[in-house]
Amino acid sequence: MPELPEVETTMRGISPLVGQIVQQVIIRHPTLRWPIPTHLVNDLPNLTLTKLKRRAKYILAEFRRADYALANGELLGTLILHLGMSGRICLLAKDEPAAKHDHFDIHFQNGQVLRLRDPRRFGAVLWVAAGVDDVSQHVLIKSLGPEPLELAFSTDYLYKQLRTRKAPIKTTIMDSHLVVGVGNIYASESLFRSGINPKTPANKVSKPKCERLVAEIKATLAEAIEAGGSSLRDFFGADGNPGYFQQTYFVYGRTGEPCRVCQKPILQIKQGQRSTFYCASCQR
Ligand SMILES: [Zn+2]
Repeated sequence: MPELPEVETTMRGISPLVGQIVQQVIIRHPTLRWPIPTHLVNDLPNLTLTKLKRRAKYILAEFRRADYALANGELLGTLILHLGMSGRICLLAKDEPAAKHDHFDIHFQNGQVLRLRDPRRFGAVLWVAAGVDDVSQHVLIKSLGPEPLELAFSTDYLYKQLRTRKAPIKTTIMDSHLVVGVGNIYASESLFRSGINPKTPANKVSKPKCERLVAEIKATLAEAIEAGGSSLRDFFGADGNPGYFQQTYFVYGRTGEPCRVCQKPILQIKQGQRSTFYCASCQR
């Protein structure tokens, strides 16, 4: 599943499209998680993509009139893109033939194409018209917690949030109401790096441990984004395959292998339907 670092890398990868004017929209298979709005075929052409942002695992693409620099820059709407379980967005040349799972294209006048490929079709393409709704108030966006890499996600914030929570710390930090984008890999890895047992009730995590955890969540995500940046070349193009970044993990996916710190075998348990990997010796 694409995690926050893959989404951030995808957004950076398509950033050359900012300032480009839409020529054509093609919807080949509208039934994603929600139907792709068919009016985009009529409404997006001749608009300019003026801004790309990421919020949690959503890419937000703002569109304005093509002459926005001359006119008053009126925002017409925001496209919300989500990669779901298996989606990827490629930046291609316009003559690249579409393959089986290529459901959605935006062709730009400069000859580049933004293409969504999504075999399992849990992804999403949604439109929020300006004036009708503020994208920050969209049902998918409005109840999201802070971004992990922003200052709002601080020791004080996390410590305060954890006081009232008794669920295990691992499932708690994966709750997007608390903080967004801490997926299974990054939860397991940051808990290892903080020396916190994933089964610890959230309200039993001390303030120094909270401080460590905040720092390690930021560090694991930042390192993955950096790794993603270096893989951008492989990321786009005809076979554009974001897949998963080739990273060396301390615990994730290493069941039974020796801990990189103490050599004891890495354990695997289930928490909230997800696998957790940890070292019982290093994480207490
Ligand atoms: Zn260990």
